[in-house]
Amino acid sequence: MSWSPLQAQEQTQSQTQAQSQAPAPAALSGLARFDPETSRVADTNGGVQVDLDLSQGVPYRAYTLDAPKRLVLDFREVDFSTLSATRLLQGDKVLAVRAGKIRPGWSRMVLDLNAPLVLRSANMAIDRATGRAALSLWLEDTDADEFAASAGVPDIAGWAPPKPGEGKPPVARDPHGPLRVMLDPGHGGIDPGAEADGAVEKELMLSFARQLKEVLLRGGDVEVMLTREDDHFVSLERRVAIAHERKADIFISLHADALSEGGARGATVYTLDPDASDAASRALAERHERDDLLSGVDLSQSDDVVADVLMDLARLESRPRSDLLARAIVLALREEQLPVNNHALRAAGFSVLKSPDIPSVLLELGFLSSESDRGNLLDEEWRNHMAVAVADAIRAWAIADEAAAELVRQ
Ligand SMILES: [Zn+2]
Repeated sequence: MSWSPLQAQEQTQSQTQAQSQAPAPAALSGLARFDPETSRVADTNGGVQVDLDLSQGVPYRAYTLDAPKRLVLDFREVDFSTLSATRLLQGDKVLAVRAGKIRPGWSRMVLDLNAPLVLRSANMAIDRATGRAALSLWLEDTDADEFAASAGVPDIAGWAPPKPGEGKPPVARDPHGPLRVMLDPGHGGIDPGAEADGAVEKELMLSFARQLKEVLLRGGDVEVMLTREDDHFVSLERRVAIAHERKADIFISLHADALSEGGARGATVYTLDPDASDAASRALAERHERDDLLSGVDLSQSDDVVADVLMDLARLESRPRSDLLARAIVLALREEQLPVNNHALRAAGFSVLKSPDIPSVLLELGFLSSESDRGNLLDEEWRNHMAVAVADAIRAWAIADEAAAELVRQ
């Protein structure tokens, strides 16, 4: 990666913004609460409008069932204890409502319909600042035939409520398997990356990735994969796709930048700036198979709205996990007294960090433009020291991540 000092400054500013806007990680392990004040189910001209407000976004699905006619909403998981039918229902087309927990981690709301209605749209909007979610559904008056044809439980893999004992969130890593680490040596082939005084980024990053792989493998219970094993070009999107195809638990992109001016030195760890991500990741989703992008949830049969919401939710869950990984790396480097940049933790819209569900960081090992960093990077023993520190950080992260996942699973 390379940019001018001016761009580097912008990245620092957007990091501050990202931190202030990111929902607190704790909100993810808590229950979403139904808000009776602002939620309504109202008859309209030609149908029924359903507006449900929740304290946080959760994956959901909506469908109708026949005999008797009803609208079913499944959520993971919502506290409906404040639900009042007289308050929620504003009309005659919906006769009754009931809601509650159907099994651990899953809640359901059922609206009994007085007339045939077909579900035309569903949208969950999540407020980036507060994390609150507004679910809006539009049902249109229809005839008995169309109602019967449209009714039924959608067959979307990954959406069946889990069998007893299977409370695992869809995007957490498998705690029983080895940790699957994807290392991404930057650049390659026709793209050399930064070059300074005979040092070439693509070569040094491949050497470092191989060293880090060896150090990690010595520790056991880990699988290490590289997005490129030799000197060939791999597109940024391909790197992300490889991580998904190989079902990586974490993704670490390796770089060593060169700046034309300023005395920048030391390691820097980047996480994704969420404000720079949405349009790009939607385009990415369109170009790749959708079920590649969210492991555990097959989106190939779900509509755009649901896909969007799930991408956001997966990112809400993976963002704190990426942040934790970035912090673990910086901490380990400091403990080993390896050179760390003054602004060691940053956020940017790098394409390789755009996996919604794989914790991803980009590690700039140092600046090739700095004489001392360049000397370090060219020194095999120094690189090995660095590899030991990063491997320690990965292991520390895995332990903390597993503990956090246990809390989510309860
Ligand atoms: Zn680079």
